[in-house]
Amino acid sequence: MATGAGWAPARPIERHGAPRGASPRSKSVAPGPRRPSPSPARSRPAADHSGSADSCRVRVAVRPRPKNSEDLAHGADFNSCVELQPESKRLKLKKNNWSCESYKFDEVFSENASQKRVYEAVAKPVVESVLEGYNGTVMAYGQTGTGKTYTVGRLGKDDPSERGIMVRALEHILSSLSFETDWVAISYLQLYLESVHDLLAPEKTNIPIVEDAKTGEVSLPGAAIVEVKDLEHVFQLLQIGEANRHAANTKMNTESSRSHAILIIHLQRSTRRKEESSSSLYNDRHDTFPDDLPLVLKSKLLIVDLAGSERIDKSGSEGHMIEEAKFINLSLTSLGKCINALAENSPHIPTRDSKLTRILRDSFGGTARTSLVVTIGPSARHYSETSSTVMFGQRAMKVVNTMKLKEEVDYEILYKKMEREVDQLTSEMERQQKNLEKEKRQLESAVKKLMQDLDKERDQNNLLSKQVTELEKLLNENKQQQQLENLSKTKFLTDTTKEHEKEMGELLRKLEEERCCSSSMKDRMSVLQQQLCDAQSSAQLQESMAREMEKKLTKVTEEFTIQVQSLKEKVSGLISEKELIYDELKSTQEKVQQEMSQRQDLEDQIVRLKQSVSDNCAEESKTSCSMVRSGSGLGNTAFVSKSGKLREALSGQRGTISKIFEEVGLPNVLALLKSEDLDVQIHAVKVVANLAAEDVNQERIVEEGGLDALLSLLETSENTTIHRVTAGAVANLAMNGSNQGVIMNKGGARLLANVASKTDDPQTLRMVAGAIANLCGNEKLHLMLKQDGGIKALLGMFRSGHTDVIAQIARGIANFAKCESRMICQGHRKGRSLLIEDGVLTWMVAHSTMFSASTRRHIELAFCHLAQNEDNTCDIIASGGIKELLRITRESPREDTRNLAKKALDSNPAFLREIQ
Ligand code: ADP
Ligand code: MG
Repeated sequence: MATGAGWAPARPIERHGAPRGASPRSKSVAPGPRRPSPSPARSRPAADHSGSADSCRVRVAVRPRPKNSEDLAHGADFNSCVELQPESKRLKLKKNNWSCESYKFDEVFSENASQKRVYEAVAKPVVESVLEGYNGTVMAYGQTGTGKTYTVGRLGKDDPSERGIMVRALEHILSSLSFETDWVAISYLQLYLESVHDLLAPEKTNIPIVEDAKTGEVSLPGAAIVEVKDLEHVFQLLQIGEANRHAANTKMNTESSRSHAILIIHLQRSTRRKEESSSSLYNDRHDTFPDDLPLVLKSKLLIVDLAGSERIDKSGSEGHMIEEAKFINLSLTSLGKCINALAENSPHIPTRDSKLTRILRDSFGGTARTSLVVTIGPSARHYSETSSTVMFGQRAMKVVNTMKLKEEVDYEILYKKMEREVDQLTSEMERQQKNLEKEKRQLESAVKKLMQDLDKERDQNNLLSKQVTELEKLLNENKQQQQLENLSKTKFLTDTTKEHEKEMGELLRKLEEERCCSSSMKDRMSVLQQQLCDAQSSAQLQESMAREMEKKLTKVTEEFTIQVQSLKEKVSGLISEKELIYDELKSTQEKVQQEMSQRQDLEDQIVRLKQSVSDNCAEESKTSCSMVRSGSGLGNTAFVSKSGKLREALSGQRGTISKIFEEVGLPNVLALLKSEDLDVQIHAVKVVANLAAEDVNQERIVEEGGLDALLSLLETSENTTIHRVTAGAVANLAMNGSNQGVIMNKGGARLLANVASKTDDPQTLRMVAGAIANLCGNEKLHLMLKQDGGIKALLGMFRSGHTDVIAQIARGIANFAKCESRMICQGHRKGRSLLIEDGVLTWMVAHSTMFSASTRRHIELAFCHLAQNEDNTCDIIASGGIKELLRITRESPREDTRNLAKKALDSNPAFLREIQ
């Protein structure tokens, strides 16, 4: 569109856009707008449509009015001057019979063309273009009475087929809009004598025309803009407009044919980028606005019912002032001039000459899509008007417009959207502010608490720093003291270090030795390990042997079981044998019965035998000695008769003596001991000695006073035989434990020692030694025995050198030592042995080699028992008894004696020391 400077020359066709649906879009875009684009609103040229060179050209259609009654009355012959060729869109003007000119139009209607057809051919493309956002203009031009108002402004309220372009266009727009997002309104104006009147608000007259300096857009700010929602409303408004136009014309005394009626349809359509992106119409709009801005397309459709185009003198408006007539035609004349200038690409377009051309500035040579319908009458009388109208149309067809879209930001929607966002942000901010306040309160309380803690810590710190100061003071004092101490310590340390170094050297040397030793130990260890391996293998061997043994044991057990079985069988055999023997016993008892009777006969013979007893005395004295038996049984062999004959005699004598004893009675025999007759005394002693040899008599003899009589004999008698046999009798009685104490208490030991000291007769000494040896077997009497000189007497009898005597001495010593050892072991006695006090130990050591084998056994035993008592240790060591003990451990024939000697040596550390 031209700027304020004037009409721009027509642009080349291919550079002008066209609305959608007209033809395909061209790749090239029209050059920049002829006037500056507003901001933020942007005008954009429509995409070019290749293949349709005149697509943006002003389209022009010709519509002839059918003949009316007037025409018929005048016999008008339309065909005489105009020839319509609708099929070829041509019109022939016949000036006269020989002059004819043909004109091509965009559309040439027949007289009978319907309103609908005219709308679709002329206005519909423009309306569609306006719906898409372009400005549009539909205009009727022609002589008064040719049907401009009929074509454009006919309401046709009752007959829809009659409806003109205004009604149909609004109908079309209303059906195409969405009332949620779009908006449509109308202004209805009349231009008369260069003055604009509002047909919807008749009070508004002389409405000014305003041009935006930046955009060049024309607006009529005073005019009413009434939003329309439906067709009914449209009819109302158009009727009002029509009525007002009529009233105004009447008031101003004008004819409607002299005024221009202009209906402006304002259209506003919201668009969304997303919706548009799929629409080919808006393909090239993305560079203009940001994606999320709400945009609005604003367009205007001008439907103009022009004043009649006939010359004024022919209009019948006589009486008007020349000036007035000049104004009446000014706008139309000016329009013709502008179109001429545009058609001829003139550099100056006189747009500003009239109000009509100012209002239609965008319609011709501007950005609008424009269609023009020129109406012609059928009468040849108006040939010149028809001809000028046709020529006007021809020139208008040469006018080319550059279509542009005008889109603006929809600030209302944008405002609402932003308001919503602001509300959201505000509430979010309030929420966050609340949170912050809460956090602040928490922080404040935390800070308060921290401050309290801090205060506490500060107090503590002050206290601590005071303490630190005191401590530092103390530390300094200590340091000084320490330094002094350090000096002395350093000296001491140096000395000590030297000593330690020395010691270290020594230790290192020892360590080296230890290492050598350790390596040799390792060698030994490896040897031992080897031995261990050997031992393990032997253990395995033993294990296998054990298994073998086990097998054997199993076998033996089996055999044993078999043997047990056989033994059981034998036992049963023996039981049967026992029964046989029992039978035999019965028969034997019967025999005993028979022998009892024979005994009676034998008693008679005893009496006779008494006589022969005295004759056998010498032999009997020897035999009585055999009655003396040792308590322990040792030495019996020395007294046993060597021939079976003697044994038989002895048994015979015993039988005899028994018989005497039974015959005479014990009291009588004991009484004989005090007989005046020595022989009787001797025989009586012999009988008592023999009786005392029997265990059963020993206690009875003592009870009957036999012991007193015997001891009396020992004391009083001078006879050797009496001494010998009496000592034997006492020895026999001393075999009984209960008699031993009685003998000692009655001074038996002292009497025996006395006898031993007086005689050298070995038989007597043997009897005395035997008696004392028997008494030695009673540990309770040891002290008394020693005190009564029994031990010394025993030892003194060694002088006889007689083997039997020495054997009795040895037996006595062994008995004594054994009992003493037992007492000590049981804790009944303590201290050095009584034997040692009486020189027995010295005697044993001195004569150890001289004893016979049997005697030596007694002496060895005595040695062992004495060695058990620790209190004897010194005496044994001093007397050289250890040597003797060692000999016993090696040479003694009795194993128990050897073990006893070993035990004594091993258990006594003093002995062991002596041995080493
Ligand atoms: P103009 O507005 O150009 O002065 P009008 O529209 O007022 O002419 O028409 C004049 C007369 O002719 C009217 O009565 C109208 O009804 C009639 N008329 C015009 N054109 C036609 C047509 N195409 N068909 C029928 N009648 C028409
Ligand atoms: Mg009219």
